[in-house]
Amino acid sequence: MKLHSTLLAASIALTLAACGGAEAPSQAPTAAAPAAPAATEAAPAETAAAQAGECAFNLESNDAMQYNAKNIDVPASCTQFTIHLKHVGSMPVAAMGHNVVIAKAADAASVAADGAAVKPDHVKEGDARVIAKSNMIGGGESTSVTFDVAKIAEGGYNFFCTFPGHLAMMNGTLTVK
Ligand code: ZN
Repeated sequence: MKLHSTLLAASIALTLAACGGAEAPSQAPTAAAPAAPAATEAAPAETAAAQAGECAFNLESNDAMQYNAKNIDVPASCTQFTIHLKHVGSMPVAAMGHNVVIAKAADAASVAADGAAVKPDHVKEGDARVIAKSNMIGGGESTSVTFDVAKIAEGGYNFFCTFPGHLAMMNGTLTVK
């Protein structure tokens, strides 16, 4: 009786083993798989090429109180990012000054208001809400501002001009991708 049940158990085990073995081939037919790795290999190379030299952006401003961009994409792969600002107009800094200030979109209005009377940069000294700021420039001049991408990684940051009255026209979003 005991021997019989042992044989039975052995036979069940064999059957299970056979079943397990039979399942293996069903995974083998994915011989087409090599095509997938080949396709994903091309993507990183393409991405690397596209990102080369993209940790900077050339932003223009003019005598009509405008930037030429409403959004700047900041690659998440960049440690630091630089915005080069060029004033393509001809009006003097005292009349049509432009800068680039980085801060939370929700803080932009108060940052600009608090800097209104501060000449020439129109940003309050030591303003903790400001991630980075450039100099204020006039027509024909250029400046730049560099900041750590990690500081804006959480999102919700804008770039804007703090020259009195310019914020409404001169602001845009920073999108980390
Ligand atoms: Zn401005």
